[in-house]
Amino acid sequence: MSAWKRIAKRAVVHTIARTAPLTWGWRKPGSLIVLMYHRVLPKDSPARQTEQPGMYVSPETLDLHLNELKRHFELVHLDDWLRRAKAGAPLPRLACAITFDDGWRDNYDFALPVLVKHQAPATVFLVSGYIGTTYRFWPNRLMSLLQKSAAEPGSVDYPDPLRRIVAPVLQEVKRRGALAVEDADRVVQGAKGFDEEEIRRLIETAEKSGDGISQAGEILDRSEVEKMAATGLIRYGSHTATHFRLGGRISPSDLESEIAGSRKELQELSGQPVELFCYPNGETSPAALDLVRRHYLGAVTTRSGWHEASGDPHLIRRIGVHEDVSNAREPFLERLSGWR
Ligand SMILES: [Zn+2]
Repeated sequence: MSAWKRIAKRAVVHTIARTAPLTWGWRKPGSLIVLMYHRVLPKDSPARQTEQPGMYVSPETLDLHLNELKRHFELVHLDDWLRRAKAGAPLPRLACAITFDDGWRDNYDFALPVLVKHQAPATVFLVSGYIGTTYRFWPNRLMSLLQKSAAEPGSVDYPDPLRRIVAPVLQEVKRRGALAVEDADRVVQGAKGFDEEEIRRLIETAEKSGDGISQAGEILDRSEVEKMAATGLIRYGSHTATHFRLGGRISPSDLESEIAGSRKELQELSGQPVELFCYPNGETSPAALDLVRRHYLGAVTTRSGWHEASGDPHLIRRIGVHEDVSNAREPFLERLSGWR
């Protein structure tokens, strides 16, 4: 970006941030903003090396967000708000519900202390089949593979058609001498074009070709789930049984287990009712939506925007917040307006 473009952009962000709280006042009373977080990683966390920039905030940024949110919104549990909306009960004028996707251990280590400090309620969307395991989501595994390839060229053999996405990026890395996290992000975005089953198979094949790929567990375990619930601030929703993207090919019995089975498992594991669902990667289908409607009070997507009481409670929009777009007050306020 050229220098003057950067200055112009900063001026736009500044103007929107200054007027944002004013425009929220014009929204329909009973409007709700749902924020989508994933991970909370300190600046020096090694986990940042194998994570997409859009996936995390620092604990300091989360703290800044909560300070700001409390000035403008009533912080609510998403399920409470939905229950009131369904019953036609009065709603706060402007409400905000905080959500965390995937059930990362760093939610316990780094988000929970900040949430407790602010007494902020939040929903954590868990993947029932991975609680307490060392399972790693495929985007992180793919980034680990790319790092290994960058450090030791030729050490990983990528099967086609994954190779077609990886090869141009590795060429670039060879030329520049280093792997930028943005390069790896590009590969992950490209790999999302494959079917869920296919990408899992391709990555497993690549992993078998190069030994020494890190498999450290980064997912919450049962005792952390219990301790978070015991604060009274954290409630759980389902993010399926295996983080399977529901927009592609999937058998009816697998769909049933991802949506209804995961709910049953999570209720048993957490000892709490599980009434909310979160679509992996925001993908859904008519069959998935139908099943979600039958089993859950509400469900969140990755589509950007605010939610109103008259909106579809099973296709709730959210605003994604992460470090690179919201690590200061003004860009955060601009982000909340949901204009991009
Ligand atoms: Zn997810």
